[in-house]
Amino acid sequence: TFHYEELNEIADTIKQMQEEIQHYIKRLKREKKIRQEFFDNASHELKTPLTSIRGYGELLKNGVVNDPQQAQECIDRILKETTHMTALITDILMISRLEGNDVVEEKVDIPLRSSVEEVRKSLDPMARENHVFLDVQAEDCCVHMSQKHLEQLLSNLISNAIKYNRENGTVDVFLKSERQRLVLSVEDSGIGISKEDQKHIFERFYRVDKGRSRRVGGTGLGLAIVKHIVRYYNGTIDVFSRENIGTKITITLPSVVVRQDEER
Ligand code: ADP
Repeated sequence: TFHYEELNEIADTIKQMQEEIQHYIKRLKREKKIRQEFFDNASHELKTPLTSIRGYGELLKNGVVNDPQQAQECIDRILKETTHMTALITDILMISRLEGNDVVEEKVDIPLRSSVEEVRKSLDPMARENHVFLDVQAEDCCVHMSQKHLEQLLSNLISNAIKYNRENGTVDVFLKSERQRLVLSVEDSGIGISKEDQKHIFERFYRVDKGRSRRVGGTGLGLAIVKHIVRYYNGTIDVFSRENIGTKITITLPSVVVRQDEER
């Protein structure tokens, strides 16, 4: 005799499994599409400087440029594009490492104030070049995290605050501990980001103004890297921005502060 109930149960289970498989396939296809888009964008971004380098190289080779000053300009352009390519490749490697979820970064105890001071020193020339006043206030505490992650967070946010600023603008950086939580905020007096663009700035290769970003030397990956690092620590990101007034980005990283007051 047939056990219809049992058959029905089996049919239901099969249907459920089918739905799950379909769901899974959809997800895989979506992920594949995102990966493909990333590859396409990355190749395009790398091709652009290469095309310029080739162009200038050919000008030099064909003897079209006779004037030594012009030749020097070609060489400077080539070097600038090479620097840009290096930055791109570094950021692409960084992001693919962060997206490979299985990668565990080595965490160490970092004295916050001196580490932040190092980053400030490295960004000072950029601030001066852009005529922007950079002020950094860091509480004296100790955080347990990857040194590279801390540096990336600081340098990506601060360099954006410098790049998208106005002449004689300001950048104010605050780092403080709230119990175990590290709170980092970077505030600038720059061009600001519209509400619509705020939804997209953390996407890879998204730029509000491609021309400006390229001029100031961005890779379009800085904030995507920030997003991934913050996610790695289960942290939060808040953006507060007004066009032509400025932007404040605040990041919190839970459970990274290991000592409130560092012994001096
Ligand atoms: P990029 O290398 O182009 O700066 P990011 O991922 O760091 O790439 O930032 C993405 C885009 O977000 C930038 O191209 C810029 O348009 C916008 N943006 C980022 N930070 C700021 C800021 N502090 N003020 C205004 N616009 C910003």
